[in-house]
Amino acid sequence: MHETDKESEPKTRLAGAGDNTKLAHLGYSPSDYHGFVNPPVVHASTVLFPNARAMETRAQKYTYGTRGTPTTDALCEAIDALEGSAGTIIVPSGLAAVSVPFLSVLSAGDHALIVDSVYGPTRHFCNDMLKRLGISVDYYDPAIGGDIARLMKPNTKLVHTESPGSNTFEMQDISAISAAAHAGGAVVSMDNTWATPLYFKPLDHGVDISIHAATKYPAGHSDILLGTVSANAALWERVREGQITMGICGAPDDSYQVLRGLRTMGVRLAHHQESALNLARWLEQRPDVARVLHPALESFPGHAIWRRDFKGASGIFSIVLPAEGGAEAHRRKAHAFLDALRLFGLGWSWGGYESLAVHVHLGDRTVARGPTEGPVIRLQIGLEDVADLRADLEQAFQAAAAA
Ligand SMILES: *Cc1c(COP(=O)(O)O)cnc(C)c1O
Repeated sequence: MHETDKESEPKTRLAGAGDNTKLAHLGYSPSDYHGFVNPPVVHASTVLFPNARAMETRAQKYTYGTRGTPTTDALCEAIDALEGSAGTIIVPSGLAAVSVPFLSVLSAGDHALIVDSVYGPTRHFCNDMLKRLGISVDYYDPAIGGDIARLMKPNTKLVHTESPGSNTFEMQDISAISAAAHAGGAVVSMDNTWATPLYFKPLDHGVDISIHAATKYPAGHSDILLGTVSANAALWERVREGQITMGICGAPDDSYQVLRGLRTMGVRLAHHQESALNLARWLEQRPDVARVLHPALESFPGHAIWRRDFKGASGIFSIVLPAEGGAEAHRRKAHAFLDALRLFGLGWSWGGYESLAVHVHLGDRTVARGPTEGPVIRLQIGLEDVADLRADLEQAFQAAAAA
């Protein structure tokens, strides 16, 4: 009998497969490297050529470390398959995954529209560097939908979305915004970090450039900084050219760790989702919580959009603690709550295995001003047992009430 090799091309093997099957097999063919299940971590600057002619014409797959290695390619292929993108670049942080495509598509004299519920450091980049480079920036209401057409100017070249928004989780009608932005000749980018490509696929909703802080769920263990930028066929060359021009590339060890993280991202996300929703529903019933800002709750203003467009919810949401008085009283209440937490750590970032809490600052908002009933506390729900997290929150509420 004729012996056949196992199919080495993951794309054909995985056609029609479910998300977790894809995550287990995407991005690398073991037969490419002696059968080892995982790709090699290639540390590289120099790549050698067999002769001067090949060197002159760069006639081989790899030419220099900044332009990719088998390790970064494995991650890019996996992300492309999840995003449905023409190409993906890897950059050293989630913030660089915002700044690199922005600088790739914008020029002096252009105008950019940025959602007001945007990730804070993205706002800082726009207000500081983009304005300094002669690019004007306006912030728009996340609920604007197709009415963004009214804000488009002849020189509007970029409409940036983030849904749900950072810290307050406002939902955006991405399809309506994309259609209006394209009608006005602008590129549409989306920071899709909250949902990951498992729960929302931006390019299927008209977005040109999908941005991720792979630092969060893809890495998943609070130990890696990395960003990915995935573009459709129309934008891919420009994004790639921008990355090469600026010399900004992700490191091999970090790329390897993120590919490793993807293998378990589906099961981790399912657990984050279930625990976070369980706690959100419990928190919503409490008199010591004024509001829960979680898109998967029926009570949330953007819930209909979430249900229409998203396949799931991740593990980060916010609560509003009711408080009298002004900013100082709100701060006192927030600090009493945070200082009483024992399992929840106080720290930035999210998407790791451990629970975190932070007192959210919304003072830089211009239109989407956020809740006013009291301080906003953002909770990242980790992989701990829900009963333990609930008990921790319970005693923090008691401490906040006594403060
Ligand atoms: C964390 C985060 C980023 C930035 O990621 P870093 O790797 O920390 O730079 C970008 N966008 C969103 C929505 C984030 O939450």
